[in-house]
Amino acid sequence: MINSSFLFFSFGIEGFQCNSYSYKDSKIVLNIQKRSDKMCCSLCRSKHIVRNGHVWRDFKSVPIGHTPVLLHTKIYRIKCKACGCDLQENIHFAYGKRTYTARLENLVMDLLKIATIKSVAEYLHLTWDTVKISTSAD
Ligand SMILES: [Zn+2]
Repeated sequence: MINSSFLFFSFGIEGFQCNSYSYKDSKIVLNIQKRSDKMCCSLCRSKHIVRNGHVWRDFKSVPIGHTPVLLHTKIYRIKCKACGCDLQENIHFAYGKRTYTARLENLVMDLLKIATIKSVAEYLHLTWDTVKISTSAD
């Protein structure tokens, strides 16, 4: 179990809890889950909601030392009884369908000021394409 403050200060993740962690394929995998008291409608923020299925998603985050960190989380589809919408819950730490977090994207941008795309990709265990895409992101 990892403290919620640690998730916030290290990875910029708020309102989630870390249920467990493991070391798999040379990566630290944090199994995180949005706290049920933080779940709400993505549109109107109402708490009058029903969970309507889920998908699992993995997000690459900033490394701990030289060890890559993967966030493994269940993302619910939420049906709102207030506004009637039926959407996947909003994930605040990654944009759209990206497989890496905003914080990792910021680290890539900072490192690219002093290193090449190839060396940043090697250092962060990312593909050249991921580093290149994050530089052209909006
Ligand atoms: Zn709503």
